[in-house]
Amino acid sequence: MSHDDPRRRIPRTDVLLADPRLAHARERLGAGVVREAVTAAQERARRGELEPEDVAATALAALPERASSMTPVLNATGVVVHTNVGRAPLSPVALEAVVDAAGYVDVELDLDTGARSRRGAGALAALRASVPAAGAALVVNNGAAALVLATTALASGREVVVSRGELVEIGDGFRLPDLIASTGARLREVGTTNRTHLADYLEAVGPETGCILKVHPSNFRVAGFVSSVGLSELRDVRRPDGSIVPVVADIGSGLLTPDAALPDEPDASTSLTDGATLVTASGDKLLGGPQAGIVVGDAATVETLRRHPLARALRVDKLTLAALEATLRGPVPPVTAFLHLTAAELRPRADRLAAALGREVVPVEGRVGGGGAPGVPLPGWAVEVPVAVVERLRRPEPGTPVVLARVEDGRGLVDLRCVPPERDADVRRALVAALADLGGSSPS
Ligand SMILES: *Cc1c(COP(=O)(O)O)cnc(C)c1O
Repeated sequence: MSHDDPRRRIPRTDVLLADPRLAHARERLGAGVVREAVTAAQERARRGELEPEDVAATALAALPERASSMTPVLNATGVVVHTNVGRAPLSPVALEAVVDAAGYVDVELDLDTGARSRRGAGALAALRASVPAAGAALVVNNGAAALVLATTALASGREVVVSRGELVEIGDGFRLPDLIASTGARLREVGTTNRTHLADYLEAVGPETGCILKVHPSNFRVAGFVSSVGLSELRDVRRPDGSIVPVVADIGSGLLTPDAALPDEPDASTSLTDGATLVTASGDKLLGGPQAGIVVGDAATVETLRRHPLARALRVDKLTLAALEATLRGPVPPVTAFLHLTAAELRPRADRLAAALGREVVPVEGRVGGGGAPGVPLPGWAVEVPVAVVERLRRPEPGTPVVLARVEDGRGLVDLRCVPPERDADVRRALVAALADLGGSSPS
């Protein structure tokens, strides 16, 4: 290396790490991330791709915006429960509860006595208050875990009687029959794909029956020559020795009480009064809370599940308990609010966005999405944009929010249904930038 080689001027690592801007970033993002960015910038300077003076600024610019690699997105797809973007967004109160629970918190401690208390008692009490027909409640990691725990505790080594019309795939290749088989229970399939009758269940039930399982086919609809057996018909099915067969109803979506906008969607309260022994459901679909598996129903049966060794492996985190309790006790969660927005309410927001961009609004149908009511359209209005804009919105310049729009029939659609109204301006900003990048007209 000659004396005037610019590589001699590349700042040393310890000097760079002492730069106040990089030191601050180290406190925020961690030492490893900052060191990596510094090393990469030094390498580039050594290869002559960068002036030595620019190493610090380049390292700084290369740092991620946040400590988690997950990027927040504005959901302009019109799909309310969208699994790819984390299903239910938490309400502001739930968010606050998560932050409070993130430190040390009395999750298993009675502050009055100083003794150990039941974990998550507040969330369980909130669930019981929301579903008065339930004798007891239990919270596990997700809907699938609730189902696995119920079938394991009630039917491992025995039979689960289920209709062939309800052996569904719940997404990402996971199939209910496989899930149940993994618990060591044997599946006893009854009826046919389109029709199952009470006689089919009665014929199958015997001394080996652990439980009857009713699954709500939440992601598709069968129409035509169909028939199924309701919970009220199954409530008193007995084994030959006279004992009652418990009925587990996997309702999926997590509606706790009926919703007039979703007439075909089962809810926990009605399912219990109709005769289910236990109801299992997800916390982050129509309930609008964190990922969780909800179990409500007969107190003695819930206790059997709670005491099963597997329950410990499916236990939820304190953050989940905090978010769930706040969702249950707090105001209407975002999922419920978005779902009930009418076309008339959405029109002025779509009009304002379209006017700012010099584009048109078109009538659209939003969807409930990944966890319920597959046949229910949600009429609204969207701003139409070229498909290339949709792609650009997904990968904008740093500092511009990521907006996820929908592509349908070769058009890009920006639907504000699932965007909090106070974020409409962010969607507009992202669209202005995307249209400008792609040379579209963008009077702002
Ligand atoms: C979504 C769903 C599940 C799985 O619940 P997760 O919370 O995703 O584990 C199980 N059964 C039904 C009917 C569902 O709709």
